[in-house]
Amino acid sequence: MPDRDDRLPGTASRRRFLKNGALFSAAALVLPEVPAGLLTEQPEVSTASAVAFFDTLALTQVRRGNVRHTWVRKWGWPATVRLHGAITEPFRDDVAAAIDDLTRLTGHELVLEGDGVTRVGTIDIIVSRHDEIDGQFPSPGAVCNTHTRGARGALYFARIDISEDYTDCLRHELMHAMGFANHWTRPAADTSMPSVLAMRNAPFRSEDYSDWDRLALRLLYHPDMQPGLPRGVALQKAEAMLIEALQNAT
Ligand SMILES: [Zn+2]
Repeated sequence: MPDRDDRLPGTASRRRFLKNGALFSAAALVLPEVPAGLLTEQPEVSTASAVAFFDTLALTQVRRGNVRHTWVRKWGWPATVRLHGAITEPFRDDVAAAIDDLTRLTGHELVLEGDGVTRVGTIDIIVSRHDEIDGQFPSPGAVCNTHTRGARGALYFARIDISEDYTDCLRHELMHAMGFANHWTRPAADTSMPSVLAMRNAPFRSEDYSDWDRLALRLLYHPDMQPGLPRGVALQKAEAMLIEALQNAT
């Protein structure tokens, strides 16, 4: 199932985004965190690397081997995370910890069903027996999969399928669900820039969100990065935010 926007952006959906209040959370107003030492040693090189990282993960998709660029895709309203299937207590705790982390990083409210929230958007996490889902996903050999839906770049639904033998997919798939449709692969990727969105066995795969992932999450969920924003504008904004963050850090 591909990631899909029901309505393509004409203009960035700023009004809708403003109306839904995503803009005003305290965490989202924080400038992107600069990973310690990573950006400050060689600011020009590192800023370019960070923008390229963001571009690859947030604004690029690969479909049947074809690379295509997209617009800003992100959640514009709170979402309830619902768990289905064979859910163990440790897995539920892990989901709770991961979405707490994401909420802190993005300022975007994700709440586990049962912990109380107005349901607006939904993220369904379905854990299934491996033989039930083996071979079901678009990428050959994939053990987990995420499908998102949005309108004009504003996501409102995600479905995450996880094999019960590979529950360590969780943070990778949640990152897809947050709007990062792509993977972190060679030739751009190397061990100096690990990411949870690298493929499972890659040497630059991070188990948890790496500093670069955290930076990308901050950039995507910065209030100036509106859903539906064209790629070129989004990249200019990302660069300006990084330069400003670096100036503030020195
Ligand atoms: Zn993936």
